Amino acid sequence: GKIAIAIDGPAAAGKSTIAKLVAQHLNYVYIDTGAMYRSLTYKVLQEQIEFNDDQKILSLLMELDITLNQNFEVYINNVNVTNEIRNNDVTNHVSQIASIAAVRNEMVKRQQQLAANRGVVMDGRDIGTRVIPDAEVKIFLVASVEERAIRRHDENLKKGIPSDLEQLKIEIENRDRMDSERESSPLKKADDAIEIDTTSLSIEDVLQEILSIVSQ
Ligand code: C5P
Repeated sequence: GKIAIAIDGPAAAGKSTIAKLVAQHLNYVYIDTGAMYRSLTYKVLQEQIEFNDDQKILSLLMELDITLNQNFEVYINNVNVTNEIRNNDVTNHVSQIASIAAVRNEMVKRQQQLAANRGVVMDGRDIGTRVIPDAEVKIFLVASVEERAIRRHDENLKKGIPSDLEQLKIEIENRDRMDSERESSPLKKADDAIEIDTTSLSIEDVLQEILSIVSQ
């Protein structure tokens, strides 16, 4: 039968790249939970709500229908925000929004509904520990901060986005620190997750390793 696959790990460790491929191979649904936190952050910035106004941020979230489709597009109340939620402003503020416990409770509830029928590959920070603690397969992807920054840098350059490697390293480390140190379901490897260090592995290597874990 169909199972749930949880893929967690720090920023820019290749989670979404790998999760998409695993989902494609198994004919499963890919769910990018980071896109949900990014969507809320995008709206908070757009509506100029104070970052410490938990009440207003939660009310805003309750008005947002966040939809992820299978073309990897993200819609907020039927508006396509796929590109907007990846901008620097969102990236540099998302951890702050994601640290609000009430926001996490609501996001986790929505994510659990999406995973209820299994047949999902879900990536994030707390999927194995909180969203789907009974996931049949849990992967924790890590890579050195240098390698992660280089990969993101190359991606940026390929897309024609201005990119500074040292700046990327700092941003990745800051985001990891905030995501690991928050009180509400911090970034953490689940006790029963399998850790894969992708620093010197190709995408194909990681994909094959996960598919072999799934088939066991
Ligand atoms: O996966 P991505 O890097 O796009 O996630 C953006 C941010 O969303 C993370 O840095 C983290 O603050 C938050 N996030 C989270 N829990 C998740 C997924 C993402 O707190 N399950």
